[in-house]
Amino acid sequence: MKAGRYGVYGGQYMPETLMSALIELEETYRRISADPEFSRRLDWYLREYAGRETPLTYCTNISRELGCRVYLKREDLLHGGAHKLNNTLGQALMAKFMGKRRLIAETGAGQHGVATAIAGAALGLPVDVYMGEVDTRRQALNAFRMELLGARVIPVASGTRTLKDAINAAMRDWVTNLGSTHYLLGSCVGPHPFPRIVRDFQSVIGEEARRQVLEREGRLPDTVVACVGGGSNAIGIFSPFVDDDVALVGVEAGGAGLDTPRHGASLSAGSVGVFQGALSYLLQDADGQALETHSVAAGLDHPSVGPEHAMLKDTGRVRYEAVTDAEALAAFRYLSRAEGIIPALESAHAVAYALRSAGDLDRDGILVVNLSGRGDKDVADVAQIRGGAA
Ligand SMILES: *Cc1c(COP(=O)(O)O)cnc(C)c1O
Repeated sequence: MKAGRYGVYGGQYMPETLMSALIELEETYRRISADPEFSRRLDWYLREYAGRETPLTYCTNISRELGCRVYLKREDLLHGGAHKLNNTLGQALMAKFMGKRRLIAETGAGQHGVATAIAGAALGLPVDVYMGEVDTRRQALNAFRMELLGARVIPVASGTRTLKDAINAAMRDWVTNLGSTHYLLGSCVGPHPFPRIVRDFQSVIGEEARRQVLEREGRLPDTVVACVGGGSNAIGIFSPFVDDDVALVGVEAGGAGLDTPRHGASLSAGSVGVFQGALSYLLQDADGQALETHSVAAGLDHPSVGPEHAMLKDTGRVRYEAVTDAEALAAFRYLSRAEGIIPALESAHAVAYALRSAGDLDRDGILVVNLSGRGDKDVADVAQIRGGAA
């Protein structure tokens, strides 16, 4: 496989002006990957600050009901309430090792902006976050969180004033400030080497889960399930299992249904195209422009997906399924009552698939669901969707 490619996918579809930054990033990443001092410091932050390792929780009640052994990997218990900090801490520390003095990020729903602001505060790096003007209003609370955490939120007023425009603004900033600035990407997307870097920083999820399930069960699980937006929590838990005889299932946002335009299922219903500097599956119009997407889970409301997932779909190593808004909402309520754990709406997609498929396993079957985040952020929205009735 060519460097920076996953089969035909991935690559660097970038303006010439950014190539030197990508080459520098690749070289730094190679250097820090072999640097024990980097691993030592990252381990310290993950353990001491972020709260790793996260538990692998055996779900007594759900297991009894579903008739198989269900575990949750508890990324909801990581500082910040989701898996995102594994990546933002890793990249922020990498930026320091590169001698960069500033972080920039772009965010749609705001969750990646918040995770970047946390990492910037922890490591003493100033953070500028580009956010479409529409999104700064839709996600006002996250914009306020970023400011509380010391980041500057820059509203982007061009184009549709949403994520696409925020990405363009962040790229322009990066080109102008290459010497001082690291562009901290939030998922396993974008040009090489970002998909690789983000996967590696998120693989701590799967490495822990693999060890934990072996300790508890004496064998590997039958199935590992994770939700897929850009794909980082999924690739993080899948990677250490890819060479094993373990079924891997990625769950996309089915929104209002794949027979409508209102969903975010780029692998299940998209086609091959270029977005944010990489070739992958994409929800696009006839001109190759990314479409507006929809999901009840803001973190899955994304037109494309990481290139490694595109390859894993084509080779059949990972199965990709879609779960609708309604199914995810039902799973959100189900897990809350059954186990006393309120999942993020994103993670509720993985839970919903687990509920749908549990019948395929027998009593001794082991199912691991990646609980990518906690649902506190979604409680107000869910209350509104249900007209306030619990
Ligand atoms: C951002 C987010 C996601 C989606 O991002 P991936 O890169 O696909 O992991 C999923 N779950 C939660 C809780 C998130 O915050």
